[in-house]
Amino acid sequence: MGYVIALANQKGGVGKTTTSVNLGACLAEAGKKVLLIDIDPQGNATSGTGISKASIEQDVYDVLINETPLEDVILKTVHDGLDIVPTTIQLSGAEIELTSMMARETRLKDAIESVDDNYDYVLIDCPPSLGLLTINAFTASDSILIPVQSEYYALEGLSQLLNTIKLVQKHFNPDLKIEGVLMTMFDARTNLGQQVNEEVKKFFGDQVYETIIPRNVRLAEAPSHGLPIIDYDPKSNGAEVYRQLAKEVLAAHGK
Ligand code: ADP
Ligand code: MG
Repeated sequence: MGYVIALANQKGGVGKTTTSVNLGACLAEAGKKVLLIDIDPQGNATSGTGISKASIEQDVYDVLINETPLEDVILKTVHDGLDIVPTTIQLSGAEIELTSMMARETRLKDAIESVDDNYDYVLIDCPPSLGLLTINAFTASDSILIPVQSEYYALEGLSQLLNTIKLVQKHFNPDLKIEGVLMTMFDARTNLGQQVNEEVKKFFGDQVYETIIPRNVRLAEAPSHGLPIIDYDPKSNGAEVYRQLAKEVLAAHGK
């Protein structure tokens, strides 16, 4: 059975998608079968793994709303061993449509259960909100990986995120855990980065990964080429740090 990790933080631009794509590719490089599910209507994980919008016939919207089987929607990405459930902008209507549906919180979970024997890891790239799409992800997941941008107010909003996790634990998924907290876009040239890092460690303790993702221009460039960093520039610092993160994740699961 695949281990399901949601990448979530309701703040936009903190590195959720960058981490989903690159952790996914690095786990695949380490020999794991990985499925990435894009549930952000922006579709940045979809385009960032080389999927052209024109090639998408059905997407995660059809799975959630029309009960299309998940396996009919899965595409291969540019990286061997990394598959994706793509999204398109039509997903932006799903949040409202789900409101009046039966089993509205468990639709993604039900869909994943039909394919997760085929994968070692399933990663869900969440939108920047705590609405029904994110709740579907939390209900479907074993754990949550929280990327935190290394900046002032890094911790702001995290109490709402933790509250949502508690609510989902209470009502839908009592075993839901925090996988880890990842510091992203760290700038070693300023004291601020260090201060924020200390603050986040005070709050989350040993849940914070040892791997810290620095600001790296190659990581910012890779998505416009539709490539994970290990395919775009395999020797870059960005590639190295995401391989390191994959090692930490694998070690945490003893495989
Ligand atoms: P989110 O999914 O949380 O909104 P993204 O992963 O899309 O955040 O990152 C936001 C922007 O920052 C994107 O343009 C991305 O390419 C860039 N970015 C993310 N991580 C890094 C990094 N470590 N170094 C430089 N740019 C980054
Ligand atoms: Mg994103």
